[in-house]
Amino acid sequence: MEKRPRLLTGDTPTGRLHLGHWVGSLENRLALQDSYDCYFMIANVQAFTTRMDKPAEVHANVLEVALDYLAAGIDPQRSTVFIQSEISAIAELTIFFSMLVPFPRVMRNPTIKDEIRDKGLGDNYPFGFLLYPINQVADILAFRPEIVPVGEDQIPHIELAREVGRRFDQLYCGVDSHTEDLDYVKKGGLFPIVDVKLSHTKRLVGIGAPDAEGKLLKMSKSLNNAIFLNDDADAITRKVMAMYTDPKRLKATDPGTVESNPLWLFHEIFNPDKNWVTEAKERYKAGTIGDVECKKRLIEVLLHLIEPIRRRRAVYEKDPSYVLSMLRAGTEKAKEVASETLSLAKAAMKQHYF
Ligand code: ATP
Ligand code: MG
Repeated sequence: MEKRPRLLTGDTPTGRLHLGHWVGSLENRLALQDSYDCYFMIANVQAFTTRMDKPAEVHANVLEVALDYLAAGIDPQRSTVFIQSEISAIAELTIFFSMLVPFPRVMRNPTIKDEIRDKGLGDNYPFGFLLYPINQVADILAFRPEIVPVGEDQIPHIELAREVGRRFDQLYCGVDSHTEDLDYVKKGGLFPIVDVKLSHTKRLVGIGAPDAEGKLLKMSKSLNNAIFLNDDADAITRKVMAMYTDPKRLKATDPGTVESNPLWLFHEIFNPDKNWVTEAKERYKAGTIGDVECKKRLIEVLLHLIEPIRRRRAVYEKDPSYVLSMLRAGTEKAKEVASETLSLAKAAMKQHYF
């Protein structure tokens, strides 16, 4: 079992998990639990970059995310679930790694720019917000994983983890700069050059209207446009019925547009009945099927996916001590791995003294 290569990924406890997490990362994680030694981090320090004034909310959301993990099928017998703030080695690595990244490089990160815009952070975000991509590099490299399953918005962060890994290995482990990414560890590097693992749906849009530039926003806990994995039938029905579709279509006989239309993007991703989707799309374009009929179909499809998750969650909700003991055991195990990485990193940097 211990010979399995490592996998690391995580979620920020800014709310409950939603369908975007499911298709962007969770589904992949479940499929990889047997073949990888999986570490799933609840990034509560990262949550403080935008919720520093809501500590109780972050605390509650750590437990919500842990419940969502269990409900979705993450199995603590096979995988390690842990809380970021308990792993002090991550904070120490963050400081050392921050020396390896030029400041303008941090500011060039497109995900940081998107988040500042989409979350309305203005120009008054904390310094720690800009530090979080480097903190996330430390989250990842502390576990020296081979792969990181994430959604598309995380690609710039993973690229940074690759750059920091290369730079560290070249500077402190004597790895030649012409080395192929796959060979860094073989050539004496401490950090592997990690690979991103994207899923079939890299970016699920939210259920709301597009932004001022006409771009559909990604489904996000922070943007009030999500269908959550523990939404009940009423909530799912309400959300799908109110979902953004083609604004120019006023009645069922108007020809509709299926491109950039969340209703059809959702059907394509979640509806297993591909024939129905193909036919109904044509009818929608021709104006021979109504939004309501298509939305009702989508509600059925989503209920079929979410209901079993919600039911399993209800069982775990009754047992908070089980959830806490899972987090405690996972955090202990994660601490050992990250501490070992920190000692090896300090030795490589010639900063071991006693
Ligand atoms: P926040 O709004 O607070 O940033 P979030 O909804 O973006 O929250 P994160 O915790 O930041 O969620 O993301 C956790 C993981 O889920 C990441 O790998 C991210 O890429 C993935 N993910 C989140 N939302 C989506 C989405 N809409 N489509 C695909 N993947 C997603
Ligand atoms: Mg996010």
